[in-house]
Amino acid sequence: MARLLEGRPIADRILTSIAAEVAKLKSQPVLASIMVGDNPASQAYVKSQKKLAQQLGIDYQFYNLEPQISQPALVDFIQRLNADEKVNGIIVQLPLPLGIDGRRISQCIAYNKDVEGMHPINIGRILFGDTDIVPCTPAAVMELLKETQLNLNGKEVVVVGHSEIVGKPLALLLLKEFATVTVCHIGTSQAGMLEKHVREAEILVVAVGRPALIKGSWIKEDAVVIDVGINRIEGMIVGDVEFEEAQKRASFITPVPGGVGPLTVTMLMRNLLQAVKLQS
Ligand code: NDP
Repeated sequence: MARLLEGRPIADRILTSIAAEVAKLKSQPVLASIMVGDNPASQAYVKSQKKLAQQLGIDYQFYNLEPQISQPALVDFIQRLNADEKVNGIIVQLPLPLGIDGRRISQCIAYNKDVEGMHPINIGRILFGDTDIVPCTPAAVMELLKETQLNLNGKEVVVVGHSEIVGKPLALLLLKEFATVTVCHIGTSQAGMLEKHVREAEILVVAVGRPALIKGSWIKEDAVVIDVGINRIEGMIVGDVEFEEAQKRASFITPVPGGVGPLTVTMLMRNLLQAVKLQS
């Protein structure tokens, strides 16, 4: 029976060290958060960011902009925050209203204030092994893997999902640790090859958003399973892996919820601290 890899205790340890580092800074770090309109999922995320920032001694400055704002006006707003020396980090809550190009918006945040780690410069730096600011979810996955104390060198790691925000940057982080990385995606499934790859995974990370995509019976004996997926079914939240069956075969498995989730916002705060260091 697999051990549960829970995110909360790991997050608490990291938060304690972030709080200690924040306390040593000459001035309180400032995180500017922009929400356009009032998307309920963004509201919930903002609430957890604000709570955590308060707990860590971070000044969380929240800007709720009207949903009718034009893209140039939003870019202008961000550029003013870029130029403000008192602001150390900027996050724009997604999704943005129709008509605003989210990718263009993340690109206009100064790379050294980009706490989500999605600016092309930060993504590009990962390619060269510079991992000071890294997208939050892949960073969370790496922390969970660290907790298993497994040496990733030479391990067969299968990542299912190749989004810009999870699968692709995660593959680069795993390569940095000399894992043998296979990235599966919709093409893999369409070719009928997903099961074959999953069966070979010593470490499996799934980030798709389809419940029960990964059958429990496919999990290799003693594999580590990190389920990033979040799916709402009949009022419950489940991942992408058939949990009960997978738990019988794996050595470690993340619960959903409670695995990757608690670490994601923690990584945001860690990126803020890294941003402060880059700026100085
Ligand atoms: P995206 O929709 O951007 O990406 C999903 C990926 O899965 C794509 O690469 C897609 O390929 C691939 N895919 C779709 N269907 C299949 C299939 N049948 N077989 C194999 N691959 C498939 O989602 P995100 O990466 O943003 O998020 C993935 C999941 O992780 C979601 O459930 C999301 O809610 C969750 N999530 C959880 C977080 C947390 O903190 N716990 C944080 C971020 C995300 P293609 O593009 O080629 O179609």
